[in-house]
Amino acid sequence: MIEAGEILKKMKNQKINYDKVLRKMIQQWEQNGERPKILLHSCCAPCSTYTLEFLAQYADIAIYFANPNIHPRSEYLRRAKVQEMFVNDFNEQTGANVKYIEAAYQPHEFMKMAKSRGLTEEKEGGLRCTACFEMRLEMVAEAAVKYGYDYFGSAITLSPKKNAQLINQLGMDVQQIYNIKYLPSDFKKNRGYERSIEMCKDYHIFRQCYCGCVFAAMKQGIDFKEINKEANEFLKQF
Ligand code: SF4
Ligand code: SF4
Repeated sequence: MIEAGEILKKMKNQKINYDKVLRKMIQQWEQNGERPKILLHSCCAPCSTYTLEFLAQYADIAIYFANPNIHPRSEYLRRAKVQEMFVNDFNEQTGANVKYIEAAYQPHEFMKMAKSRGLTEEKEGGLRCTACFEMRLEMVAEAAVKYGYDYFGSAITLSPKKNAQLINQLGMDVQQIYNIKYLPSDFKKNRGYERSIEMCKDYHIFRQCYCGCVFAAMKQGIDFKEINKEANEFLKQF
């Protein structure tokens, strides 16, 4: 099966359009009659909406919810539940067979990483976020090897707030360490982000108001009492 580096080699000296790289890879799968198995990271339902609508046409996908960065626990549980519910609803409405897998929640690992590397005071979008993306890409790569997937990737290139160039560069680096192919992407392109907003409305998906970690949330003035109250209220139904 094709590896993204083969396409990137031919795109020297261009600003890399990772959506174009992905589409070239899809063309190759189709020419070879392949339908790969992809383990795709996501940190809440919105980024996975259009991403699944697009990718499920060409591949068998499992969403991997691996997010030790999310604080507090109640909010983590709410985002995980909403993600799982969306996968189930999506399968029901489209006839797809997307799987949902959740990693163990280990927030202390994220805290340890951020503190030991002196990243707690970084602003959102800075070095802590780079380390956070890398940590989660490594988690998904490791799981993809363990469960026998062909590719690992991330749905969060759909978010206009996330640096897709950086995420893709990190993914390309991680693939060297874990000996598994990275799936490049920029899902926000081709109206992907706009479509995700429509799908969030259609599927009644809750959209979170902060990225996830305690450090950025505190800088943003997030009221954790309120978050806990709302999340626990939501979780009571289950
Ligand atoms: S990047 Fe933001 S919107 Fe996208 S899945 Fe992660 S938390 Fe959700
Ligand atoms: S702001 Fe978001 S991406 Fe950045 S470190 Fe926090 S949780 Fe991770």
